[in-house]
Amino acid sequence: MEKDTKHGLNRRKFIISSVQAVGLSMIGGLVWGAYVSEDKSSPIVLRPPGALKEEDFVKKCIKCGLCVEACKHRPNNPNPGTATLALGTPGGHKPKKSTPHIYPDKVPIGTPYFVPREVPCYMCQNIPCTVACPTGALEPNKVTSIKNGRKVLDINKAKMGLAVIDMESCIAFWGIQCDACYRACPVIDKALTIEYMKNERTGKHAYLVPVVHSKHCTGCGMCEYACVTEKPSIFVLPIHLAKGKAGSHYVKGWEKKVDVKLKPQTFHKTKKSEKSPEEYLNTEDLFNE
Ligand code: SF4
Ligand code: SF4
Ligand code: SF4
Repeated sequence: MEKDTKHGLNRRKFIISSVQAVGLSMIGGLVWGAYVSEDKSSPIVLRPPGALKEEDFVKKCIKCGLCVEACKHRPNNPNPGTATLALGTPGGHKPKKSTPHIYPDKVPIGTPYFVPREVPCYMCQNIPCTVACPTGALEPNKVTSIKNGRKVLDINKAKMGLAVIDMESCIAFWGIQCDACYRACPVIDKALTIEYMKNERTGKHAYLVPVVHSKHCTGCGMCEYACVTEKPSIFVLPIHLAKGKAGSHYVKGWEKKVDVKLKPQTFHKTKKSEKSPEEYLNTEDLFNE
């Protein structure tokens, strides 16, 4: 009888440990699955100042979180104990604001990012986040300039993204006075200016509208944070998404200060396009090419 009880206990122990092992491997599988699904970033993810190109950044970042800690404990933090930067978690970013705004739905686990409409980057002069990075994933050399022959940290060199304006929802383009984004910009009158625009509707008034200048915009998102519309009409995107590209056959001759001739382009030719319009309009039957 005693033997049977012993066997019974052993069997129960065996079953329990097998179930535990299966459970653990399932949890492991789920965690790993989540990890694998989060290894690629959403294309709209914004990284801290000095970040390398996204593909290099994710390879070099060891997910230590030191930049986030440095951001949290930076001097003059308007909300002590909170950080602009957050670390990617399984399942991506969960929006903190109920109003609509742009946020990345996928951020590799443990890598730092920020969502300007929730907390913008306050452009700390000493850039503690970049300085704290032990691997160069956040590279101080990308946020420095030369002063008096010495390299100094310069947050104005940051290129976290580029602000873009939706002219159709920005109320300044409707003729309503608004300059909240302009006033919030830490690089005011360089990154963001206010320009006159004729009011075509009334014909006699002028609009004052915000204009972003990519050369100086750091992508800090203070403008997006301050924008008064329900969904921000000015918002920060990674530079490669925010900018177009004219192509090498369009040349700004006035910048090069030379008379640059455009390369001849190859166009599809028809019988009519080989001749001048006067020629074929006067001499040919237009309906029988
Ligand atoms: S520069 Fe921006 S991201 Fe870096 S510590 Fe300051 S607020 Fe945080
Ligand atoms: S993101 Fe906005 S607030 Fe920041 S520098 Fe650019 S225009 Fe100014
Ligand atoms: S705060 Fe928003 S609505 Fe106002 S001018 Fe700037 S982009 Fe337009």
